Amino acid sequence: MGPVDWLPHAPLEPVQLDWLNGVELAVLRLDLIDPLISGNKWFKLTGHLAQAQQACGIISLGGAYSNHLHALAAAGKRFGFPTVGLLRGHPQDTPTVLDLQAFGMQLHWLGYGGYRARHAPDFWLPWREQYPQLHPVPEGGGGRAGALGCAVLVEQVRRQLPALGWAGYDAWWLAAGTGTTLAGLALAEAGAHRVYGAMAVPDDHGVARNVEAIVQGGYELLDASRGGFARVDPQLLDFIDATHQACGLPLEPLYTGKALLALKAQVEAGRFMPGTRLIFVHTGGLQGRRGFTG
Ligand SMILES: *Cc1c(COP(=O)(O)O)cnc(C)c1O
Repeated sequence: MGPVDWLPHAPLEPVQLDWLNGVELAVLRLDLIDPLISGNKWFKLTGHLAQAQQACGIISLGGAYSNHLHALAAAGKRFGFPTVGLLRGHPQDTPTVLDLQAFGMQLHWLGYGGYRARHAPDFWLPWREQYPQLHPVPEGGGGRAGALGCAVLVEQVRRQLPALGWAGYDAWWLAAGTGTTLAGLALAEAGAHRVYGAMAVPDDHGVARNVEAIVQGGYELLDASRGGFARVDPQLLDFIDATHQACGLPLEPLYTGKALLALKAQVEAGRFMPGTRLIFVHTGGLQGRRGFTG
């Protein structure tokens, strides 16, 4: 598909919240990179596109609320390349699925059993035969290629520090699902600044293993899942509301809301000294929120 020369710009914004207790926070707004494409998934995809020189489009897979498929379909529409989505379960019209169709993504529903087979060695064979000119991207856009696509975020933050009056920063804080985005930041930082990953999934989902396969050290994982992926509780929803009212920052309950709430708990526990400067990555996901809040 040739080199992807369109790299989104993520604004860095200072945020005031009463629980910060002297810790300074700036939010890297990946939710604001583009009117159609949102979040960390496009950065991960650029890493895969860099490897897809011979292909004319992308085939990938995900669920009926998938932020990954949404970003892929939106990018295909924006840049004019074909996309195919392999979906978990049976046909349903979620807001995400309606967008995928509107963006021109070709959909195939795999059922639940068919989707579970996605890690089998021969899973891709029939799809490669049907779509020989499309480059396959794993679920969520993960792996080392996906991580490398996120490395540019470090540079984007550095360039915007002077506008905030910051001479530097101390650490990163972000939600982790597979840990690919965190791994990309840790790769680019090479130990210069610690990267904290607030896990949206419980420990047994293999996040640590995913990250270790890509980068050695420079990061720390914390469980922010609140009992399970997509598990939502009133305290979390209140926190998301309160944050929006306090500073206008929109969060969703699966990743970014849990990540910021986990940061609040750590600040209150005294993990960060007053004056510490943190970069919180808003990884997007607001489109998926439609399925949960109506
Ligand atoms: C996918 C996703 C994540 C997790 O990213 P990983 O690279 O898998 O850790 C975090 N936040 C949002 C909003 C996401 O959609």
